Amino acid sequence: MASLLGNLFILAAPSGAGKSSLIKALLEKHDGNQRFPMQVSVSHTTRAPRPGEVDGVHYHFVSHEQFEQLIEQGVFFEYAEVFGNYYGTSRVTIEQTLHRGIDVFLDIDWQGARQVKALMPDTCGIFILPPSTEVLRQRLNNRGQDSESVIDGRMEEAVSEMSHYNEFDYVLVNDDFSTALSELEAIVCSQRMRTVKQQIRHVDLIADLIGEKS
Ligand code: 5GP
Repeated sequence: MASLLGNLFILAAPSGAGKSSLIKALLEKHDGNQRFPMQVSVSHTTRAPRPGEVDGVHYHFVSHEQFEQLIEQGVFFEYAEVFGNYYGTSRVTIEQTLHRGIDVFLDIDWQGARQVKALMPDTCGIFILPPSTEVLRQRLNNRGQDSESVIDGRMEEAVSEMSHYNEFDYVLVNDDFSTALSELEAIVCSQRMRTVKQQIRHVDLIADLIGEKS
């Protein structure tokens, strides 16, 4: 795929690293930014909605059969089975959004990240780590109500996801939230300023300045 005006970002992390809160804070802080609009991709999933989750907002909730039909129709840019459920990103939505110059954030797992990187190598992959095993364990112990074995299971899943951190371009350690948010903003900003992107954004300016049409 040719380079598009918008930038594609992948954010991956184990559950408990604070990924959702960071994405939410980033989007809220930059809401209304006309120069660099951004949005989070809404995935399809076969898992059941959690309390408070809205169809079309948090996910497109579909049945197993519907998801498999969508796979056959080639709807997905990437998809993976995560903890027994299917999750996937719609190809058309991503491509149209990037064409319109909107940056897209994919909140996906390492399997999806691999597929996206293979299809669009200039995608920026960011992995978020928790500051310590103890903090992760505390965060995975919802309201202190879960048994040790339930938390052990979540820790195993987290370790399995974290073992792929080195497949990503950037690693953030989410210890102090506002520091991690600033670091995330710095990564996003540097991705946007790459020459390959600025050549598209400022094609007329560059032609005017040095008489070169790329
Ligand atoms: P949850 O069920 O907690 O919302 O998400 C479980 C995991 O699935 C998270 O790691 C999340 O990033 C991942 N995930 C969500 N949407 C997608 C998607 O479209 N594709 C892939 N590959 N993973 C996803």
